[in-house]
Amino acid sequence: MKLPLQLKLLPTVEQHAVLRETMRLCNAAATYSAATGYAAGVFGQVSIHHLTYYAIRERFGLSSQLAVRAIAKTVECFRRDKTVCPTFKAEGAICYDQRVLSFHGLHSASLWAIGGRVEVPFACGPYQQARQGRIQGQADLVLRGGVFYLLCTIAMPEETSLAPQDVLGVDLGVINLATSSDGTIHSGAGVEACRARYTARRTRLQRAATVAQMDGKRPKKIRQALQRMARKEAGFRRDVNHCISKTIVASAKGTQRGIALEELTHIRSRSRFRQSQRARMAGWAFAQLRAFVEYKACLAGVPVVLVDAKHTSQGCNRCGHVERSNRQSQARFSCQQCGYTTNADFNAANNIRDRARVKVPLVAVPLRQLRLPLAEPATSPGL
Ligand SMILES: [Zn+2]
Repeated sequence: MKLPLQLKLLPTVEQHAVLRETMRLCNAAATYSAATGYAAGVFGQVSIHHLTYYAIRERFGLSSQLAVRAIAKTVECFRRDKTVCPTFKAEGAICYDQRVLSFHGLHSASLWAIGGRVEVPFACGPYQQARQGRIQGQADLVLRGGVFYLLCTIAMPEETSLAPQDVLGVDLGVINLATSSDGTIHSGAGVEACRARYTARRTRLQRAATVAQMDGKRPKKIRQALQRMARKEAGFRRDVNHCISKTIVASAKGTQRGIALEELTHIRSRSRFRQSQRARMAGWAFAQLRAFVEYKACLAGVPVVLVDAKHTSQGCNRCGHVERSNRQSQARFSCQQCGYTTNADFNAANNIRDRARVKVPLVAVPLRQLRLPLAEPATSPGL
């Protein structure tokens, strides 16, 4: 299975400047090739190459491979939409392949840059060390908050799928992020507290930005602070989701069980997300947790069973009675027919497990169809 691996580069001040300049030139070259291609009415790799390759090499001083990549970036844009001529941000991601990027040992990468290759060290903990030999093909060089990262792709072996003896039902939600049919509840309280803290700070900063704008200043510092905050918040949620998904998969694997989840299509109607920041973040985090459970299960050889999500939260796990008022509140389930009373998410997790049990023999999701874990959402600091 292919997974992303992020390497944080640790360039010297000079290397940082050189990489930045290289990035600017590549993006300028892509913008140039887009404009030229658009003006001439050609949109393919070969035709734009004919028009612009030599000019790019001369004008921007790029290596042959980076010139080709710059054109490829343009072509990718045209593939989506030929009616607009794209321009690229000066510090947008640029793609490196094996001809312009190589790894030297465990701790440094050699990248082609303006004025010759640079050998840049990167941060490498045990996680990166264990996976470095698996890096494949090309990588994207990105600049985020002044820090360079290489986003690589690694190929991880999947364990052979275990033959599940039973299933572990998992109910994913917003208040409780995950509740298992074993009764383990991963509360969203920590995440919610973090969100509330950041929201308060965001409001303060946005107010300050408005004041600055009224004074005729451009609040660049404030905008950067907002972006930094959004990244931190997303990082915190991602950590939480990694921990929860790891626990769930380990518990299923340790007991020779598959994992049962609701079919994805149901989320929107059930959670009734509104267009608030809170809802947007919750919806994204929810999908991310699910993606993490799926890919970790896949790596560990734990089958994932998807079940119909209809009425999992309103149906009684004891007697099967379905009624909306069974769910008395977000937290409480109390069956109007048999009186069974329990935690609402625990009841739902049990329903999910039972539905998966009926699917005998347990059929796993085709593992190759799994998506990569979601990246954090595009942040709009609201300025
Ligand atoms: Zn009942």
